[in-house]
Amino acid sequence: MNDSPMIPKLSPDIALAPDVLAFCQQLFNRGFDGEIETSYAARLAVATDNSVYQALPQAVLLPKSMEDIQRITDLANQQAYQHLKFAPRGGGTGTNGQALTEHIVLDVSRHMRGILEFNAKERWVRVQAGVIKDQLNAFLAPHGFFFAPDLSTSNRATIGGMVSTDASGQGSLVYGKTSDHVLELTTVLADGTVLQTKPMPVSLAEQLAQEPTPTGRVYQQVLTTCREYRAEILAKFPRLNRFLTGYDLEHVFSDDLQQFDLSRVITGAEGSLGIVVEAKLNVTPIAKYKCLVNVKYDSFESALRNAPFLVAANATSVETVDSKVLGLARNDIIWHQVKQFIEDVPGKDMQGLNMVEFNDEDDVGMQQKVANLEARLQEALATGQSGIIGYQLTYDTQAILQIYAMRKKSVGLLGNAKGAQKPIPFTEDTAVPPENLADFIMEFRQLLDSHGLSYGMFGHVDAGVLHVRPALDLCDPAQEQLMRTISDQVVQLTAKYGGLMWGEHGKGYRSEYGPEFFGETLFTELRKIKAAFDPLNRMNPGKICTPLQSTEALVSVDGQKRAFFDKQIPVAVKTSYDAATSCNGNGLCFNYEENSPMCPSSKVTKDRRHSPKGRAGLMREWLRLMSQQGVDVLAHEQRLLSERNSIGAWWQRLQNSRAKARGEQDFSHEVKEAMDGCLACKACAGQCPIKVDVPSFRARFLQLYHSRYARPLKDYVVGGIEATAPWLAKFPRFVNAGVRFPLTAWLLKHAVGYVDTPLLTVPSLQQRTRGYQPFDLIQFSALDAAERQKLVLFVQDPFTSYYEADLVEDAMALVAKMGFNPVLLPFVPNGKPQHVKGFLKEFAQTAKTASEFLNDVAKLGAPMVGLDASLVLVYRDEYVKTLGGARGNYQVSLFHEWLQHQALPQAKGQGYRLLAHCTEKTALPATEKTWQQIFKNAGLQLDVVAVGCCGMAGTYGHELQNQVTSRALYDMSWQSHVQANDARPLLVTGFSCRSQVKRYEGAKPLHPLQALLRQIS
Ligand SMILES: Cc1cc2nc3c(=O)[nH]c(=O)nc-3n(C[C@H](O)[C@H](O)[C@H](O)COP(=O)(O)OP(=O)(O)OC[C@H]3O[C@@H](n4cnc5c(N)ncnc54)[C@H](O)[C@@H]3O)c2cc1C
Ligand code: SF4
Ligand code: SF4
Repeated sequence: MNDSPMIPKLSPDIALAPDVLAFCQQLFNRGFDGEIETSYAARLAVATDNSVYQALPQAVLLPKSMEDIQRITDLANQQAYQHLKFAPRGGGTGTNGQALTEHIVLDVSRHMRGILEFNAKERWVRVQAGVIKDQLNAFLAPHGFFFAPDLSTSNRATIGGMVSTDASGQGSLVYGKTSDHVLELTTVLADGTVLQTKPMPVSLAEQLAQEPTPTGRVYQQVLTTCREYRAEILAKFPRLNRFLTGYDLEHVFSDDLQQFDLSRVITGAEGSLGIVVEAKLNVTPIAKYKCLVNVKYDSFESALRNAPFLVAANATSVETVDSKVLGLARNDIIWHQVKQFIEDVPGKDMQGLNMVEFNDEDDVGMQQKVANLEARLQEALATGQSGIIGYQLTYDTQAILQIYAMRKKSVGLLGNAKGAQKPIPFTEDTAVPPENLADFIMEFRQLLDSHGLSYGMFGHVDAGVLHVRPALDLCDPAQEQLMRTISDQVVQLTAKYGGLMWGEHGKGYRSEYGPEFFGETLFTELRKIKAAFDPLNRMNPGKICTPLQSTEALVSVDGQKRAFFDKQIPVAVKTSYDAATSCNGNGLCFNYEENSPMCPSSKVTKDRRHSPKGRAGLMREWLRLMSQQGVDVLAHEQRLLSERNSIGAWWQRLQNSRAKARGEQDFSHEVKEAMDGCLACKACAGQCPIKVDVPSFRARFLQLYHSRYARPLKDYVVGGIEATAPWLAKFPRFVNAGVRFPLTAWLLKHAVGYVDTPLLTVPSLQQRTRGYQPFDLIQFSALDAAERQKLVLFVQDPFTSYYEADLVEDAMALVAKMGFNPVLLPFVPNGKPQHVKGFLKEFAQTAKTASEFLNDVAKLGAPMVGLDASLVLVYRDEYVKTLGGARGNYQVSLFHEWLQHQALPQAKGQGYRLLAHCTEKTALPATEKTWQQIFKNAGLQLDVVAVGCCGMAGTYGHELQNQVTSRALYDMSWQSHVQANDARPLLVTGFSCRSQVKRYEGAKPLHPLQALLRQIS
């Protein structure tokens, strides 16, 4: 066991093969415009998807254009590199390892996000393969269109990935699959051939097949296979709404055999035939009228058996969730948005829910359909038929979107199960004819029950697709074996009911079932097609099939799993770091949506390392490598919390830092780089379904990292801000003059790495609040109950107290105006800046001191309120984690949490817009609604504006290294709202956000309480 006072250097054996290195170097020399990433961290970031598998690629290429892709294939076709293989990758949301490879990843998701052409009249759009499905729909919406195939991962899955898995989801009976909407594809084959594919007369395809080129070879083979084996194909391919990936031989010919469309083979090919670079897609008008009927059942079986009845009511889609998923949703942030549409039925137990959607161009037509269904539901309720216990309907488009968001979050929510057994994907997309679904599921449940497994179920009952993720602990060899057993059994079971195990998400590592499913004749034809496209098996090898002459193997469900690595981390460490180790890779944190808080660093860099998933993955590997070196990370942390720093240790850290500056490699530096990009905004902690909380493990990592490497001066400045600010605030004018002095600003920038240092408030808070009764615990303890009830105690934070004292003054004035007695508590450091920088020993002490003080004050029984959410929330989260029971049970409310319960004087005035702080609204999802209610109570209108991160996040925006990203984040989400020509003034709840607006716009917006005060006055 390694018990050195500092962590060791990590040099994992991950050297690149010389040919890969040479390839990357030459690619660079040839003017490759995108990025070529070979670091261990970059490779690890794409070593997983949402599946249970893990494969470390050799390199990651991130092209910017078609030309870049051709540069790759041109070079790869040189003799020296013809053995190199590639796997295209988009959002990496595959559930069965589709995009995983040990070769070279070709990731189009970072740069190839261009929407190239749109023709509303002809209803089509041309896009690059890296465009995200929701990004496309946001572009189309103002024109009244959308890209119809839906999938749960729509905010991060790419068009290239959707094409290559032939994705579909909710509403597929009406809206179809991706392949139904592909008009043309541009695909680059491994040999560099550019294939433009679209429907054409068969005669033209025959003409092309005569060409002595790779294109001719491909047309020739696909024509031959699909023509000669048409009878076998029609007999073999199941008559399902869903398609089986690889390759859609059935639809290459139109039903009348007059048209030929090669795109049909490429859609669903899982990147095994070529790289899809561009797609021309059909777009669909957005239905003007929508209604969602939520039908509630006494059992999940009732919900399943009732689905055909709902489909028969001419519904656009019918989605289902079982009681387990409902239960998890109830405990998630998302429930706040949907609970009023899925209310419990008094005296009944809701065990299943069907969500029935009606869409129509015509309101009358839709109302008629809804009325018909309602009449039949009423009848069922009256007679107690079908297990229906109630229903609710809504026409509100926003509400419908939120209910679907809950349904889309189901997978993540299931992953949040406690304990080592986690729901995992391997049988998660079975499809059977809808009329067989209920019986199939009952038998499926028996199978899982017979193994004593727990699971949750949800899915598209109208299409016979059900998502089932049995909970297994793959670190346990017996359970890993069970996964294989169940896989085999489910393949048999789906076959028995006329369906497929891979009904929606593609095959990936389940490709081994291909030969059995297709039979020898058709599987041989698939292999011939693969050989025509990719004779050397260079594109996503092992997936779907291998070329006919190849002796290489298919991937298998027994492939290398993430658990192989995870189980090398000691259980105690894994449990202690569950904020990182439990990430299930569903990629919700890749959310592209610019006005959503989830994860600003991921959005602004488009670099997977800088996402919660990327950081969690790096942390896992770091913990594994530490264990391999014999380091007991937990014991090491304990030592750091108790030991004093010796001069020897300081000296050694300086030496190590010098070695780092000289370029000495250590995997810890790569992890540190990823952690440095985190804004510590905590959006992940609130919005990740698994509650992956990056700031919590980031702080622990930084503490450990700096046991080996010296800290930069900036860390001490930030970590010490609560100690220095009270002193500086004694001479605010002098300090401000100093900060404004060019030499000081230069020194702060270049020596400390800190820019745009905020100025202390003049006059100071002390001067502003002289008129109020000072805090005196002994004196206040002697007050009678009535007097105490009038007290409102203000818990100070360093930011508002010293840099925005006018806000504290206004808050106290408002409280006084409402007839209370506002009292400013003495400033006691909170510790958040220490926590952010990983000074955990110091943070523990600060938390202890603050808690002792706040516990004493709490005895007064008067409300304690704080003004800055990011600091107040530390009392509720980090204090509990650090101090446990020793924290005590005082409560510090945010101002709005206190205000919502008070009567407010009526005011008359203009309407306002609210931009809420991301940390606050992700931790306290009711924040915006509460402020709206408060304003309503005062007779004022407050409209909520959806915004992401402002780019400031405490001190992040002041650090020199973050200037570009901080500005880019502001421009991404805030700038347009702040600069909008809108008469309603902006109100901003976060100190950081107000500072950021001031920095870039010159004027500081008000906090909502300040607007209230002004109106009431
Ligand atoms: C929580 C969750 C819910 C899901 N729900 C659905 C659902 O409702 N419906 C559904 O259909 N799927 C669903 N999926 C599966 C997955 O999201 C889809 O398969 C999606 O289409 C994958 O897109 P991607 O961009 O993430 O592709 P990736 O995962 O990156 O890649 C998927 C496959 O496409 C290939 N590929 C990617 N880009 C290209 C390209 N440019 N050229 C050639 N090949 C390429 C890859 O090699 C790989 O084989 C879900 C997954 C998760 C995690
Ligand atoms: S961090 Fe959370 S949202 Fe992101 S992939 Fe992991 S579990 Fe999913
Ligand atoms: S704290 Fe914010 S920036 Fe950091 S990983 Fe979480 S969401 Fe991303």
